[in-house]
Amino acid sequence: MKNINISLLAKPNIRSLRAYHAEEVPCKVKLDANESPYSGARVKKILQTLNRYPDPEAKQLRKIIAEGSRVKPENILHGNGSDELIYYLITTFGGPVLYPVPTFSMYGIIAQALGEKKIEVPLDNKFDLDIEKILAAIKRYKPKLIFLSSPNNPTGNCFSSDRILKIVEFTYSLPPTPYSLVVIDEAYQPFSKTKSFVPLLGKYGNLLVLRTLSKIGLAGLRLGFLIAGESVISEVNKVRLPFNVNSLSQAVAVEALKDKKQMRRHISSIISERKRLLAEMRKIEGITPYPSDANFVLFKVNNAEKVYNGLLRKGVLIRNMTGAVKDCLRVTAGTPGENTVFLKALREVINSEN
Ligand SMILES: *Cc1c(COP(=O)(O)O)cnc(C)c1O
Repeated sequence: MKNINISLLAKPNIRSLRAYHAEEVPCKVKLDANESPYSGARVKKILQTLNRYPDPEAKQLRKIIAEGSRVKPENILHGNGSDELIYYLITTFGGPVLYPVPTFSMYGIIAQALGEKKIEVPLDNKFDLDIEKILAAIKRYKPKLIFLSSPNNPTGNCFSSDRILKIVEFTYSLPPTPYSLVVIDEAYQPFSKTKSFVPLLGKYGNLLVLRTLSKIGLAGLRLGFLIAGESVISEVNKVRLPFNVNSLSQAVAVEALKDKKQMRRHISSIISERKRLLAEMRKIEGITPYPSDANFVLFKVNNAEKVYNGLLRKGVLIRNMTGAVKDCLRVTAGTPGENTVFLKALREVINSEN
Protein backbone atom coordinates (compact mmCIF):
# COMPACT_ATOMS: atom_id res chain seq x y z
CA MET A 1 0.00 0.00 0.00
CA LYS A 2 1.21 3.49 -0.80
CA ASN A 3 2.18 5.52 2.22
CA ILE A 4 0.35 8.83 1.90
CA ASN A 5 0.30 11.69 4.35
CA ILE A 6 -3.37 12.63 4.58
CA SER A 7 -2.65 15.60 6.81
CA LEU A 8 -0.91 17.28 3.87
CA LEU A 9 -4.27 17.28 2.10
CA ALA A 10 -5.95 19.17 4.94
CA LYS A 11 -6.13 22.97 4.78
CA PRO A 12 -3.13 24.62 6.54
CA ASN A 13 -5.32 26.06 9.31
CA ILE A 14 -6.62 22.56 10.07
CA ARG A 15 -3.19 20.95 9.86
CA SER A 16 -1.81 23.17 12.62
CA LEU A 17 -4.91 22.71 14.78
CA ARG A 18 -4.98 20.21 17.61
CA ALA A 19 -8.19 18.28 18.27
CA TYR A 20 -10.03 19.25 21.44
CA HIS A 21 -8.66 17.03 24.18
CA ALA A 22 -11.49 15.38 26.13
CA GLU A 23 -9.95 12.30 27.68
CA GLU A 24 -12.03 9.87 29.76
CA VAL A 25 -10.02 9.47 32.95
CA PRO A 26 -11.28 6.82 35.39
CA CYS A 27 -11.90 8.29 38.84
CA LYS A 28 -14.09 8.02 41.93
CA VAL A 29 -14.99 11.70 42.20
CA LYS A 30 -15.41 13.56 38.92
CA LEU A 31 -14.93 17.31 39.35
CA ASP A 32 -13.20 18.27 36.12
CA ALA A 33 -15.82 19.32 33.58
CA ASN A 34 -18.11 21.88 35.25
CA GLU A 35 -21.12 19.57 34.98
CA SER A 36 -23.82 19.54 37.60
CA PRO A 37 -23.69 16.52 39.92
CA TYR A 38 -27.51 16.40 39.79
CA SER A 39 -29.82 15.15 37.12
CA GLY A 40 -33.45 16.14 37.47
CA ALA A 41 -35.03 14.95 34.26
CA ARG A 42 -38.23 12.92 34.47
CA VAL A 43 -38.14 11.03 31.20
CA LYS A 44 -41.29 9.35 29.90
CA LYS A 45 -42.87 8.02 26.69
CA ILE A 46 -40.41 9.77 24.44
CA LEU A 47 -39.15 6.64 22.79
CA GLN A 48 -42.32 6.10 20.76
CA THR A 49 -41.60 8.88 18.30
CA LEU A 50 -38.10 7.85 17.28
CA ASN A 51 -39.16 6.70 13.81
CA ARG A 52 -39.71 10.38 12.91
CA TYR A 53 -37.22 13.17 12.40
CA PRO A 54 -37.07 15.68 15.24
CA ASP A 55 -38.91 19.00 15.00
CA PRO A 56 -36.31 20.93 12.99
CA GLU A 57 -37.37 24.16 14.66
CA ALA A 58 -37.59 22.77 18.21
CA LYS A 59 -40.75 24.86 18.64
CA GLN A 60 -41.84 23.58 22.06
CA LEU A 61 -38.38 23.90 23.51
CA ARG A 62 -37.74 27.37 22.09
CA LYS A 63 -41.10 28.51 23.46
CA ILE A 64 -40.15 27.40 26.99
CA ILE A 65 -36.70 28.98 26.75
CA ALA A 66 -38.22 32.19 25.36
CA GLU A 67 -40.71 32.41 28.23
CA GLY A 68 -37.96 31.85 30.78
CA SER A 69 -35.86 34.62 29.23
CA ARG A 70 -38.80 36.98 28.55
CA VAL A 71 -38.14 37.16 24.83
CA LYS A 72 -40.02 35.81 21.79
CA PRO A 73 -39.33 32.36 20.28
CA GLU A 74 -38.11 34.28 17.20
CA ASN A 75 -35.25 35.53 19.38
CA ILE A 76 -34.03 31.99 20.14
CA LEU A 77 -31.87 29.64 18.09
CA HIS A 78 -31.26 26.11 19.37
CA GLY A 79 -27.90 24.41 19.11
CA ASN A 80 -26.36 21.02 19.77
CA GLY A 81 -24.66 22.59 22.76
CA SER A 82 -23.63 26.23 22.67
CA ASP A 83 -20.41 24.98 21.06
CA GLU A 84 -22.39 24.41 17.88
CA LEU A 85 -23.81 27.92 18.05
CA ILE A 86 -20.30 29.36 18.36
CA TYR A 87 -19.51 27.36 15.21
CA TYR A 88 -22.57 28.74 13.45
CA LEU A 89 -21.83 32.32 14.50
CA ILE A 90 -18.30 32.21 13.10
CA THR A 91 -19.55 30.40 9.98
CA THR A 92 -22.17 33.10 9.43
CA PHE A 93 -20.25 36.27 10.19
CA GLY A 94 -16.60 35.24 9.82
CA GLY A 95 -13.65 36.94 11.50
CA PRO A 96 -11.59 38.46 12.85
CA VAL A 97 -12.79 36.90 16.09
CA LEU A 98 -11.74 38.76 19.24
CA TYR A 99 -11.78 37.36 22.78
CA PRO A 100 -9.85 37.92 26.00
CA VAL A 101 -7.44 35.26 27.25
CA PRO A 102 -7.49 33.06 29.21
CA THR A 103 -11.02 32.06 28.30
CA PHE A 104 -13.10 29.18 26.94
CA SER A 105 -10.95 27.41 24.36
CA MET A 106 -13.64 26.79 21.75
CA TYR A 107 -13.73 30.40 20.47
CA GLY A 108 -10.14 30.05 19.28
CA ILE A 109 -10.40 26.44 18.11
CA ILE A 110 -13.50 27.08 15.99
CA ALA A 111 -12.17 30.36 14.57
CA GLN A 112 -9.03 28.57 13.48
CA ALA A 113 -10.93 25.56 12.12
CA LEU A 114 -12.94 27.93 9.95
CA GLY A 115 -9.81 29.76 8.82
CA GLU A 116 -10.65 33.03 10.56
CA LYS A 117 -8.21 35.41 12.19
CA LYS A 118 -8.04 35.25 16.01
CA ILE A 119 -7.40 38.35 18.11
CA GLU A 120 -6.49 37.45 21.69
CA VAL A 121 -6.32 40.23 24.27
CA PRO A 122 -4.91 39.33 27.72
CA LEU A 123 -7.11 39.97 30.76
CA ASP A 124 -5.79 42.40 33.36
CA ASN A 125 -4.20 41.19 36.62
CA LYS A 126 -7.63 40.88 38.25
CA PHE A 127 -8.86 38.65 35.41
CA ASP A 128 -11.08 41.54 34.28
CA LEU A 129 -11.34 42.98 30.76
CA ASP A 130 -8.47 45.28 29.83
CA ILE A 131 -10.77 47.86 28.33
CA GLU A 132 -8.07 50.11 26.81
CA LYS A 133 -6.42 47.20 25.03
CA ILE A 134 -9.72 45.76 23.84
CA LEU A 135 -10.99 49.08 22.44
CA ALA A 136 -7.64 49.60 20.72
CA ALA A 137 -7.82 46.10 19.23
CA ILE A 138 -11.39 46.70 18.04
CA LYS A 139 -10.30 49.90 16.27
CA ARG A 140 -7.29 48.22 14.76
CA TYR A 141 -8.69 44.84 13.68
CA LYS A 142 -12.42 45.59 13.30
CA PRO A 143 -13.49 42.16 14.56
CA LYS A 144 -16.79 40.80 13.28
CA LEU A 145 -17.32 38.86 16.49
CA ILE A 146 -16.29 39.49 20.09
CA PHE A 147 -16.78 36.62 22.57
CA LEU A 148 -16.99 37.48 26.28
CA SER A 149 -17.60 34.57 28.65
CA SER A 150 -19.05 36.11 31.83
CA PRO A 151 -18.64 34.44 34.29
CA ASN A 152 -15.41 33.52 32.56
CA ASN A 153 -14.11 30.00 32.21
CA PRO A 154 -11.55 29.13 33.63
CA THR A 155 -11.05 32.18 35.88
CA GLY A 156 -14.55 32.01 37.40
CA ASN A 157 -15.18 35.75 37.73
CA CYS A 158 -17.69 37.95 35.95
CA PHE A 159 -16.21 40.77 33.93
CA SER A 160 -17.31 44.22 35.19
CA SER A 161 -20.66 44.96 33.61
CA ASP A 162 -19.67 48.56 32.87
CA ARG A 163 -16.63 47.38 30.89
CA ILE A 164 -18.78 44.94 28.91
CA LEU A 165 -21.25 47.76 28.26
CA LYS A 166 -18.46 50.06 27.12
CA ILE A 167 -17.49 47.48 24.50
CA VAL A 168 -21.09 46.98 23.42
CA GLU A 169 -21.74 50.74 23.20
CA PHE A 170 -18.49 51.45 21.41
CA THR A 171 -19.10 48.83 18.73
CA TYR A 172 -22.79 49.76 18.50
CA SER A 173 -21.96 53.42 17.89
CA LEU A 174 -19.54 52.71 15.05
CA PRO A 175 -20.79 53.50 11.56
CA PRO A 176 -22.76 50.61 9.99
CA THR A 177 -19.52 49.03 8.84
CA PRO A 178 -17.28 48.04 10.55
CA TYR A 179 -19.74 46.67 13.01
CA SER A 180 -18.85 44.10 15.65
CA LEU A 181 -21.29 41.67 17.18
CA VAL A 182 -20.67 41.19 20.91
CA VAL A 183 -21.54 37.72 22.19
CA ILE A 184 -21.92 37.39 25.96
CA ASP A 185 -21.50 33.71 26.78
CA GLU A 186 -23.62 33.20 29.90
CA ALA A 187 -22.93 29.48 30.35
CA TYR A 188 -22.36 30.09 34.10
CA GLN A 189 -24.78 32.98 34.65
CA PRO A 190 -27.20 30.86 36.76
CA PHE A 191 -24.47 30.62 39.45
CA SER A 192 -23.80 34.35 39.48
CA LYS A 193 -25.32 37.37 41.21
CA THR A 194 -24.55 39.54 38.20
CA LYS A 195 -27.54 40.26 35.99
CA SER A 196 -28.01 38.61 32.61
CA PHE A 197 -27.52 40.78 29.54
CA VAL A 198 -30.69 39.42 27.92
CA PRO A 199 -32.83 42.45 28.96
CA LEU A 200 -30.43 44.72 27.01
CA LEU A 201 -30.89 42.87 23.72
CA GLY A 202 -33.67 45.26 22.67
CA LYS A 203 -31.44 48.26 23.18
CA TYR A 204 -28.34 47.05 21.31
CA GLY A 205 -28.86 45.28 18.00
CA ASN A 206 -25.27 44.01 18.03
CA LEU A 207 -25.59 42.26 21.41
CA LEU A 208 -26.02 38.46 21.48
CA VAL A 209 -26.28 36.09 24.44
CA LEU A 210 -25.40 32.39 24.62
CA ARG A 211 -26.95 30.10 27.23
CA THR A 212 -26.58 26.37 27.79
CA LEU A 213 -28.21 23.57 29.78
CA SER A 214 -24.82 21.87 30.15
CA LYS A 215 -23.80 23.42 33.47
CA ILE A 216 -27.21 23.12 35.14
CA GLY A 217 -27.73 19.38 35.04
CA LEU A 218 -28.18 18.37 31.40
CA ALA A 219 -24.71 18.25 29.85
CA GLY A 220 -25.49 14.96 28.13
CA LEU A 221 -28.36 16.43 26.14
CA ARG A 222 -26.09 18.86 24.28
CA LEU A 223 -28.39 21.85 24.25
CA GLY A 224 -27.45 25.48 23.93
CA PHE A 225 -29.34 28.60 22.89
CA LEU A 226 -28.49 31.80 21.11
CA ILE A 227 -30.68 34.70 22.24
CA ALA A 228 -30.55 37.73 19.94
CA GLY A 229 -32.49 40.06 17.68
CA GLU A 230 -34.66 38.43 15.05
CA SER A 231 -32.44 39.56 12.19
CA VAL A 232 -29.37 37.96 13.81
CA ILE A 233 -31.28 34.72 14.45
CA SER A 234 -32.59 34.47 10.90
CA GLU A 235 -29.10 35.02 9.45
CA VAL A 236 -27.49 32.36 11.67
CA ASN A 237 -30.41 30.00 11.09
CA LYS A 238 -29.36 29.77 7.43
CA VAL A 239 -26.23 27.79 8.33
CA ARG A 240 -27.91 25.57 10.94
CA LEU A 241 -28.16 21.92 9.92
CA PRO A 242 -31.88 21.00 9.71
CA PHE A 243 -32.05 18.43 12.52
CA ASN A 244 -29.23 19.65 14.72
CA VAL A 245 -31.03 18.88 17.99
CA ASN A 246 -32.39 15.34 18.22
CA SER A 247 -35.85 14.31 19.47
CA LEU A 248 -34.63 12.79 22.72
CA SER A 249 -32.79 15.93 23.74
CA GLN A 250 -35.75 18.13 22.82
CA ALA A 251 -38.22 15.98 24.75
CA VAL A 252 -36.08 15.48 27.84
CA ALA A 253 -35.27 19.19 28.01
CA VAL A 254 -38.94 20.16 27.75
CA GLU A 255 -39.74 17.81 30.65
CA ALA A 256 -36.76 18.90 32.73
CA LEU A 257 -37.47 22.61 32.25
CA LYS A 258 -40.98 22.09 33.61
CA ASP A 259 -39.41 21.24 36.96
CA LYS A 260 -37.75 24.58 37.53
CA LYS A 261 -38.00 24.22 41.30
CA GLN A 262 -35.71 21.24 41.40
CA MET A 263 -33.28 22.91 39.02
CA ARG A 264 -33.19 25.99 41.25
CA ARG A 265 -32.62 23.85 44.34
CA HIS A 266 -29.67 22.16 42.69
CA ILE A 267 -28.22 25.48 41.59
CA SER A 268 -28.47 26.94 45.13
CA SER A 269 -26.81 23.85 46.55
CA ILE A 270 -23.97 24.22 44.06
CA ILE A 271 -23.59 27.92 44.89
CA SER A 272 -23.36 27.25 48.62
CA GLU A 273 -20.92 24.41 47.98
CA ARG A 274 -18.79 26.70 45.82
CA LYS A 275 -18.71 29.14 48.74
CA ARG A 276 -17.71 26.35 51.11
CA LEU A 277 -14.99 25.14 48.74
CA LEU A 278 -13.59 28.65 48.49
CA ALA A 279 -13.72 29.22 52.27
CA GLU A 280 -12.08 25.86 53.02
CA MET A 281 -9.46 26.25 50.32
CA ARG A 282 -8.52 29.69 51.67
CA LYS A 283 -7.48 27.97 54.90
CA ILE A 284 -5.00 25.70 53.14
CA GLU A 285 -1.53 27.18 53.17
CA GLY A 286 0.33 27.09 49.89
CA ILE A 287 -2.64 27.45 47.56
CA THR A 288 -4.47 30.54 46.28
CA PRO A 289 -8.12 30.05 45.33
CA TYR A 290 -9.73 32.81 43.25
CA PRO A 291 -13.26 34.14 43.91
CA SER A 292 -15.86 32.61 41.61
CA ASP A 293 -19.29 33.44 40.22
CA ALA A 294 -19.46 30.06 38.49
CA ASN A 295 -19.79 26.41 39.53
CA PHE A 296 -16.05 25.91 39.85
CA VAL A 297 -13.05 27.37 41.63
CA LEU A 298 -9.72 28.15 39.99
CA PHE A 299 -6.74 27.90 42.31
CA LYS A 300 -3.02 28.41 42.12
CA VAL A 301 -0.53 25.91 43.52
CA ASN A 302 3.24 25.58 43.52
CA ASN A 303 3.30 22.56 41.26
CA ALA A 304 0.12 22.01 39.28
CA GLU A 305 1.24 18.73 37.74
CA LYS A 306 2.10 17.24 41.11
CA VAL A 307 -1.14 18.29 42.80
CA TYR A 308 -3.22 17.15 39.84
CA ASN A 309 -1.59 13.71 39.82
CA GLY A 310 -1.67 13.44 43.62
CA LEU A 311 -5.43 14.05 43.62
CA LEU A 312 -5.96 11.61 40.76
CA ARG A 313 -4.08 8.91 42.66
CA LYS A 314 -6.71 9.40 45.37
CA GLY A 315 -9.44 9.04 42.75
CA VAL A 316 -10.30 12.74 42.46
CA LEU A 317 -10.33 14.15 38.94
CA ILE A 318 -10.09 17.93 38.53
CA ARG A 319 -8.80 19.98 35.56
CA ASN A 320 -5.21 21.02 35.10
CA MET A 321 -5.36 24.54 33.62
CA THR A 322 -1.66 25.27 33.67
CA GLY A 323 -1.51 25.57 29.88
CA ALA A 324 -3.97 28.49 30.04
CA VAL A 325 -3.25 29.95 33.52
CA LYS A 326 0.18 29.18 34.91
CA ASP A 327 0.25 26.82 37.94
CA CYS A 328 -3.54 26.74 38.14
CA LEU A 329 -6.06 23.95 38.64
CA ARG A 330 -9.84 24.12 38.35
CA VAL A 331 -12.24 22.16 40.52
CA THR A 332 -15.96 21.89 39.77
CA ALA A 333 -18.35 22.13 42.72
CA GLY A 334 -19.92 18.69 43.14
CA THR A 335 -22.26 17.29 45.78
CA PRO A 336 -21.39 18.12 49.42
CA GLY A 337 -19.99 14.60 49.81
CA GLU A 338 -17.82 14.82 46.69
CA ASN A 339 -16.48 18.21 47.74
CA THR A 340 -15.58 16.87 51.17
CA VAL A 341 -13.65 14.01 49.55
CA PHE A 342 -11.87 16.56 47.33
CA LEU A 343 -11.00 18.90 50.22
CA LYS A 344 -9.59 16.07 52.32
CA ALA A 345 -7.54 14.76 49.40
CA LEU A 346 -6.30 18.27 48.59
CA ARG A 347 -5.13 18.88 52.18
CA GLU A 348 -3.27 15.58 52.15
CA VAL A 349 -1.62 16.21 48.78
CA ILE A 350 -0.56 19.77 49.72
CA ASN A 351 0.75 18.63 53.14
CA SER A 352 2.76 15.81 51.63
CA GLU A 353 4.42 18.39 49.35
CA ASN A 354 5.91 20.32 52.26
C1 LIG B 1 -18.98 24.71 28.99
C2 LIG B 1 -19.00 25.98 28.24
C3 LIG B 1 -19.72 26.12 27.07
C4 LIG B 1 -20.17 24.90 26.31
O1 LIG B 1 -21.41 24.62 26.45
P1 LIG B 1 -22.12 23.46 25.64
O2 LIG B 1 -23.49 23.99 25.62
O3 LIG B 1 -21.94 22.24 26.47
O4 LIG B 1 -21.53 23.33 24.27
C5 LIG B 1 -19.83 27.36 26.47
N1 LIG B 1 -19.19 28.42 27.00
C6 LIG B 1 -18.44 28.32 28.10
C7 LIG B 1 -17.77 29.52 28.62
C8 LIG B 1 -18.32 27.09 28.75
O5 LIG B 1 -17.53 26.98 29.82
